[in-house]
Amino acid sequence: MKKLILIFVAALAISCGDNKKEEKKELKIGTQVEETSPAETTDDAVANVTIEGNDQMKFNKSEIRVKAGQKVKLTLKHVGKMDKTVMGHNWTLLTQDADMAAVGQAAALAKDSEYIPTDMKDKIIVHTKMLGGGESDTIEFDAPAPGTYTFMCTFPGHYALMQGQFIVE
Ligand code: ZN
Repeated sequence: MKKLILIFVAALAISCGDNKKEEKKELKIGTQVEETSPAETTDDAVANVTIEGNDQMKFNKSEIRVKAGQKVKLTLKHVGKMDKTVMGHNWTLLTQDADMAAVGQAAALAKDSEYIPTDMKDKIIVHTKMLGGGESDTIEFDAPAPGTYTFMCTFPGHYALMQGQFIVE
């Protein structure tokens, strides 16, 4: 009887197999050591992530991967020279139901709060400070539930180029 239930559960897992499930399967087959991740993970408990923004209005990463349950220690470095009033960058992580364009448009009007729209705080999981050239900021937060999230810079107009995926596996 137990065996039957197990088979049923396995069948269920396979029947709702999406990309996430397939990835999980691959991970089980492959050895843990060979897992490659752009997240510069140093140990299982903490994901150390560094991402740069520059004067060309670009992040140097379009994808960041961490694991569920990890603490994320993320550092944003502005490697350019321009002032934050003209080329400011932050790293803002949105909830899965957030509309990036809507957040971006609201942010453009939120100069007084460093372009973090206070009326959309429920769409923002976490964010760094707004940085100018040569500055950096480190934030720590718990990885949200597994899934794919969007990150962006909320400086006016920047999200068109400065965005990417934050994937919790
Ligand atoms: Zn920016």
